[in-house]
This record gives sequence, C-alpha cells and structure tokens, in this order.
Amino acid sequence: MTLSPDLFGPSAAPAQVIRKYYATEMAVERTRLLYQGSLLPTLLMLVNGLVCAWLLWNPKQYLLDSIWLVWLLALVALRVIQVAAFDSAMPSRQAQPIWRRMFLLGSAISGLTLATAAIALVPADSFMQQAWVFGLIGAATLSASVAYAVSLPAFLSFAVPCLVPVILSLFWNGTAQQQGWGVLGLILLGSLSLVAWQVNRLIQRGLLRRFQNHALIEHLQQAQQRSEQLNQDLVREVEQRRQVEQELREAQIGLQDRVAQRSQELDAASLALNKSEARLAMALQASELGLWDWNLQTDEVHHTQLKELFGLEPEYVTAMLSHLKPRLHPDDLPLLKRALVEHLKGRSEDYQVEYRVRHGDGHWVWIEDRGRAVERAPNGRVTRMLGTRRDISADKALEEQQRLASTVFEAASEGIVILDPNYALIAVNQAFSRVTGFEIEDMLGRNVVELPSSRDARRHFPVIRQALLSHGTWQGELVETRKNGELYPQWLQLNVVRDARGHVSHIVGFFADLSARRESEERMRYLTHYDELTGLANRSLFRERLREAHQRVRQGGRSLALLHINLDRFKLLNDSLGHEVADQLLQKMSRRLINALPEADTIARLSGDEFAVLFDAYGNLSSLARVATRLLAKLRVPVTVEGHELVVSASMGVSLLPDNAREISALVSQSNMAMQHAKHLGGNNFQFYTDSLQASTLERLQLENHLRKAIDERQLTVFYQPKLCLVTGKLNAAEALIRWEHPQWGMVPPGDFIGLAEETGLIVPLGEFVLRQACWQACEWQRQGLAPIRVSVNLSVHQLRQGKLVSLVRQVLEETGLDPQYLELELTESQLLDSVEHIIATFQQLRDLGVKLAIDDFGTGYSSLSYLKRIPVDYVKIDQTFIRGLGQGREDAAITRAIIAMAHGLALKVVAEGVEDQQQLDFLRAECCDEVQGYLISRPMEAHGLAELLRKNADFP
Ligand code: C2E
Ligand code: CA
Ligand code: CA
Repeated sequence: MTLSPDLFGPSAAPAQVIRKYYATEMAVERTRLLYQGSLLPTLLMLVNGLVCAWLLWNPKQYLLDSIWLVWLLALVALRVIQVAAFDSAMPSRQAQPIWRRMFLLGSAISGLTLATAAIALVPADSFMQQAWVFGLIGAATLSASVAYAVSLPAFLSFAVPCLVPVILSLFWNGTAQQQGWGVLGLILLGSLSLVAWQVNRLIQRGLLRRFQNHALIEHLQQAQQRSEQLNQDLVREVEQRRQVEQELREAQIGLQDRVAQRSQELDAASLALNKSEARLAMALQASELGLWDWNLQTDEVHHTQLKELFGLEPEYVTAMLSHLKPRLHPDDLPLLKRALVEHLKGRSEDYQVEYRVRHGDGHWVWIEDRGRAVERAPNGRVTRMLGTRRDISADKALEEQQRLASTVFEAASEGIVILDPNYALIAVNQAFSRVTGFEIEDMLGRNVVELPSSRDARRHFPVIRQALLSHGTWQGELVETRKNGELYPQWLQLNVVRDARGHVSHIVGFFADLSARRESEERMRYLTHYDELTGLANRSLFRERLREAHQRVRQGGRSLALLHINLDRFKLLNDSLGHEVADQLLQKMSRRLINALPEADTIARLSGDEFAVLFDAYGNLSSLARVATRLLAKLRVPVTVEGHELVVSASMGVSLLPDNAREISALVSQSNMAMQHAKHLGGNNFQFYTDSLQASTLERLQLENHLRKAIDERQLTVFYQPKLCLVTGKLNAAEALIRWEHPQWGMVPPGDFIGLAEETGLIVPLGEFVLRQACWQACEWQRQGLAPIRVSVNLSVHQLRQGKLVSLVRQVLEETGLDPQYLELELTESQLLDSVEHIIATFQQLRDLGVKLAIDDFGTGYSSLSYLKRIPVDYVKIDQTFIRGLGQGREDAAITRAIIAMAHGLALKVVAEGVEDQQQLDFLRAECCDEVQGYLISRPMEAHGLAELLRKNADFP
C-alpha cells in the first residue's frame, strides 16, 4: 500500500506555514485566552477601584466619586457577563470576530475608567493619596497588561487609554511632582510594553507549538486510523483470499474426482466403442455394405469395401467426383443428380438411388446407394454426407429374371395354371381365360375338379393323379369345354414341383388349344399344294404331278404336253391399276382356265401371271392347237374388274415329251422358251417349241451384245419421215426414226431391236441420242435457211420412268438452241397405261417447257377415252392398221372417222400415219384429218435428203 503524501501534513512544514494554516484557530485560541485571563485583572481592577474609592472619598466631590464607582461596578458586571457569555457560547461562535472586538472595546473602556480615576479623582496635593492611587491603578494596569499580553492589540487597547491620558495630563499640569509621576508612568508604559511583547512572544510560540503538536497528533491519529483501516482491509483481504483458496482447493479436489470419473467413463466408452466399431466393421463386412464418408467441401471421400464393390484399390479412390463419378453409367447420371440435389436442398429425408458403375474389370455393377447429410455450414449448405453402397447386381438380375418369368407367364400363348397340392387354383395366366373364356378372378381358389371347364380332366382325374404321384408328370389330349359351351381339343401337360424336403409344393400345368393348330395344319397341308389366291395347284404340287406323269410316260409309252401361259402386259396392269385389281383379274383368269380346259390333267399357277397346264395323254398336235386357240379366245373376252373393263391376252408356249424333251427340266424350259417367242411375236398367240427357237434365243443374246457395241461405236443414225399438213399443203413436220447400220448384217429395222433395248435398259442412252440428234438437226435445217419444221421424237416409257426426262429435254433444248415449239414427243398409247399419274405430271412439265406431245399408235391400246381427257397432249396419231384397212372394209373407216371426231372434240390435232395411197389420203382429207405421214408422202430418209425435199416443199398430191 502507498502512504498518502499528506500523512506528514503541516507538521513537517515550517512555523509560518503552521501559522498561516492555523491562523483562524490561533486567533480564536487567543480570544479564549484573553477571556479566560481577563477575570482576574477585572476582579483586581474592582478591588483596587473600591480601595481607591474609599481612599479618595471626599464629600465635596461625592457625586463624582459615586458616578465613577457605579460606572466601575457596572463595567465590572458587564465584563463578567461578557466572560460568562463567551464561556457558554459554542466554540464555533466563539470564533466569530465580534468577541474580540467586544473584548478590545471592554479593555479600552476599562483602561479609560482607570485613567479617569487617576486624572479626575486624585487630588493634586496629597502625595499619599497619589501614591496609593497611582500604585493601585498601576497594579491593576500591570495585571491587566500581563493578562492581555496574549494579544498585542488587547494589551495596547487597555494600556494606551489607561496610561497615555494620565501621563499627558501629568506632564501638562506641570508640577514637578506630578511630572515625576508622569515619568514614572512613561517608564511603566515602556516596561509594560516590553513585558507584554515578551509575554506575547512566549504565548505565541506556546500556541504555535501546541498547534503543531495538535496537528501532529491529529495527523498521527489519522495515520493510525488509516493504518488501522488498512490493517482491517488487509485482514479482510487475507480472509477472503483464504476463503477463495479454500474454495479453489475444494474445487480442485472435485475436479480431480470428476476427471478421474470421466476418464474412467471414457475408458469404458472407448472400450465399448472399440467393441461396437469392431462389431460394425464385422456387420458391414457381413452385409457387404461399403461405408462412405464424403466431405462436400473438399470432395474427399473415405470409402470401405472399394475392392469388393468396384474392384478398385482404395488408395486410388480419395475423391468422390473425380475418382468415382467418371465410372458411373451415363444413363443413370441424371437420376443420381436429381436424388442428390433433392436431398441437399432438404426436400428428401434420405438420399437413396440405384445406378450402375463400371467395375474395375470392365463390367457394370448395379449399386444401391443410401445416405444422409450429417453436417451443415451455418448457411445451411451440406458439408458432409455419410452413407452406404451395396452391390445389388444379383438382386437386379433376379428381379429381371422374375420380371421375365412373369412376362413369359402372362404373355405365353399357352395357358398356364398353378395348383396347390390339393389341386386348388393359385394362379392362371391371360391365355387361360383367353382359351377357356372364364375370368381369372372367378377361377382362383377353386379346385380343379370342380371347374366347369375341365369335364374331361375330371373323368381322367384318377389316372392323372396316379401318374403325378408316381412319375411327377402327366400329359395328354383332352376335349374340354369353353365357357360358351364350345368343345375344343386341348393338350395338357402337368408337372409336380417339390420343395427342398421333397414334399409336393405346387403342380404346374400347361395347356394348348389344339383347335387352331388343327386348322392351321389343315391349312398348311392345303397351302403346301395349292395357290392361295387362285386355288390352282402351286409350283410344288405341279412338280409332283409332273414327276408322276413323267413316270407314267416312261412306263406306259404315252406322251405328255406342257402348256406355259403368260398374260400379256400384266405388269403394266398391275402397276397402273393396283395389286387388288390385278389379284382379282388373276382369279378371274384362273377360273377361265379351269372352265376352258376340262381335259387338263393339272392347272397350276407358277408365279405372278405365269400358269402351266399339263395334258396327260393328249390326242394329237392339231387337237392341242385347237385347245390353245380356244383358250386364247376365251381369255381375250373383255372382263370387268372393279369398274375397269379390261381385255387381257396371253402368250403361250407348248412343249412335248418325249417328242421335244426327254427330261422334265428340259420340258419346262422349252415350253417357257416357246412362250417367250409367242410374246416376241406380239402376244395373244401360241407357239410350239421347235429346235430353231432354241437358235433364235441365242440370236437374241448376240443381238444384245451387238446393240451395246452399236451405241458405243456410233453405228446408229437417225432418219426423218416428213408429215404433210393437209390445210396448208406443206411439209411442216418430220418424225425421227432410228436406224442401225450394222457392219455385217446391214440395216437392222427398229422393230428388231427396240423391244430388246427396252428390256435391257439400252433404250435410255439410245433415246437420248435420237433426241439430241433430232433437235440439233432441226436447228441445222433452220441454219441452212429452210422454213422451221417440227421434229417428233419417239419416247419409251422406260425413259419416263427414269424421272430425268424433263431435265434432259430442257438441257438438250438449251444446248441446241431449238425453240421448244418445234419439238414433239410421241408415246404409244399402250405405254400410256403405265402409272398414269406420273405420266400426267411429266407431260405437264414438258408442256410447260413449250414442247408438243402426241399419242402414238392410237386405237391399239384399249385405253378408255377418259384417259385422253386427263393426259395433256396436242396430237393423236391414228395407228397404221386402221389407215391400211380404209380401203377394205367399213369398220376401219368408221373407227378412223370416230377418232378424228373425238380428237377434234377434245381440241386435239389428228395425224394419220402409214398413208400409202391416194384413196386413203382423200378419205382423210374429207374427214378433216390435220396431218398425214406415210410412204405416199415420203419414206423415212436421211437428213440431207429431207432437206432437199423441204426445199421443193410444194405440190404434193
Ligand atoms: P412408229 O413410231 O409407229 O413409227 C412409224 C413406223 O411406220 C416406222 O417404222 C415407219 O417407217 C413406218 N411407216 C411409215 N409410213 C409407212 C407406210 O406408209 N407404210 C408402212 N408399211 N410403214 C410406214 P420403223 O422406222 O421401222 O419404226 C418402227 C417402230 O420403231 C416405230 O413405230 C417406233 O415405235 C419404233 N422406233 C423407231 N425409232 C425409234 C426411236 O428413236 N425411239 C423409240 N423409242 N422407238 C423408235
Ligand atoms: Ca412414232
Ligand atoms: Ca406409229
């Protein structure tokens, strides 16, 4: 503790400091000393006054003496009262200056009172009296002066009024004696003052010391008090400390106890934890669960069972996203993401998802992943997740297998029933109710022997049960009843299923409705021998019959004829009218075949529109020819199919065994060859196979090769046959006709190779050549200064089918620079039938180019007139056959007339071709035919020849 600096206070300070510090207290003390000391001088003054009064009593001046005496008494009384009053006053009031001033006033008055006695009452002449009085007054003055010396002002306030007036009056009156008293008085004053000064100094010093001591004591007391206080504080503090120390000690002991207890508990807990950890590890191991602990902030993951689950080494898997995520199956990633986000956002209690992961050795493993957020940041973000992963591949496979099994169960076409050991129905599949007609719900739980659908099974039940008991299986055919009462053959197979202990747990039954199979077996039997569409024998039955017939021929020396029939232009019909119509047509034709050939051994449909007829033991060739002719006529009779009136002809080839062939295969190919020949001859005829036919087939093959070469080697040229306009009488057009100049064979007519070119596709480059040549030639004639004429080019339907015709025509017109109105394209009427819609569209596009279009050989194609209206054409060319017949009969003339009238009615121009004589020309002119073409005008000729002709271009017949 620190001692306050004022501990030593004023005591340590010099006297003047003390004086100054205690000035007020010293002044009060001095006043108190004045009052205390004044009682004795006052009494002495009273006694001396009374003695003086007695000494000076003089009847002459009693008044004066009495007044003075009374005054003196009163004064003494007043001063005693004053002292008493001071004594009884409170020390605080005693300090008031009024008391000092009152004292000074009292002492001054006392002095003056004594002086008055000395001056006024002492007789000037009585020395004795003077000596007494001056002596008494002097004594009183002396005692008072000593008593008042405490305070110099008090001393002076008494001494000066008491002595100075007396001394002055003594010197003033002037007698020597008196002056001697005066000197005495002076000396007295002087010595009194000295004494008073001395006394005052002593008192002053005593007072000072008293105060110093007082201050010191006070100070010491304070210091003591303070030290006592300090001591007390110290004791208290020590006590407190001791208490705290005690408490601390107690607390420490408690703490030690608790620590000991806690560490004991911890030991126990960690022991338990170790045990439970070991248990957990064992449980995890046993459950094959991989435990994962994922820090989402660092992506760090702790994962157990990695090797077992994923075939991965644990040290390579430390991060979830970078090490495990890439192994996920891409299809499962969205699902996983969704589940994780749901959980992280707090929308799902648990995170649980199944997905595939690529195992270390490459195969996919199905994993069930479950987890939960266990730690979150203050902002709610998940920072840690814990969970488990389990390989559920086996479960999945099982699930898949079960699903498959149940699908098979439900989807099986056979009825399946599952029975308990007492033959009560546990489960049946869809096929069961489909076959029996009973609802599944109505069947379940019922005993099989009670079922209304198993009447026959009931009859056989003892046998069945015995077989199941002894062999575990039974199968057989039953005739059962459907819900609607219908009977059906059923194939039932029953198998016993035993549990692990060998007891019968289930009986599984499979049954098939045999009625459909019976039907289909019937049908198959039929189909394997007969054509479904026509009911005729099919190829396989035909072969069989052919073999049998061949056998008979060999044994019996008889002969056999094979008739191969193919419908003409059937493909065209099929394409243009559709399969439906074509099928109906085939059926009708088949019926005609059957009706027309009652003597035929077998009539078969080999394929499409190909038929074969077998005549076992035919009479002779001429009867065979008669049969064929009759058949052709019957087939050609117009037939109506779905509103279309059609005329269908056929081509037939006949081959004979043993006349032509020895083996069946040769017989078939020969009849086919003969049929092809009939087709080449234009169809609607029959041909017998001859050896020369074999040769001509070879010829065709040769021809094809030559034609290919001809195109490459430029053996083809174009001839032009002019057309005469009957209105102007001028040659206004020419038809381009192909010519083949063969180096060895000479000129080959187009009729010999156009068909072949069409069959082989060579018609496309051939047609392009003619088109380009004709356009170029038309321009060339113009360049030679001839009047422009129209060139017409023949088209094949193959060119149209290719789909490039319009662009080809546009390109050729551009290349040659021919005005499109001078190009005409001809297509034969029969070819028009081929996909009409396409032809109409193509023709429209060609017309849009400005090109003219013509229907060639009109009248031969049996097309209905309605086609003509729909197809955008400009010219109709009447077929040569009608023109040729003009001179012979009325029929052709009528047809020609009708065609002209009809074409004109449709605003089309008419061209007649094959005009060879004047008579024909006259007829045509009379019928207002627009143009004519034929040998009468000109034969087809080379370009320069026609140029000559055009130059003349006048005066035709
Ligand atoms: P088509 O288009 O009907 O041609 C008319 C045929 O009649 C030509 O025979 C022609 O020489 C012949 N002819 C013309 N006037 C008379 C006559 O007064 N009396 C007789 N008896 N015949 C006459 P050609 O040149 O032998 O052509 C035969 C067929 O070959 C053509 O018949 C045509 O269908 C086809 N053809 C010719 N050139 C081509 C061609 O460049 N392309 C195509 N696709 N076919 C062509
Ligand atoms: Ca033509
Ligand atoms: Ca023609």
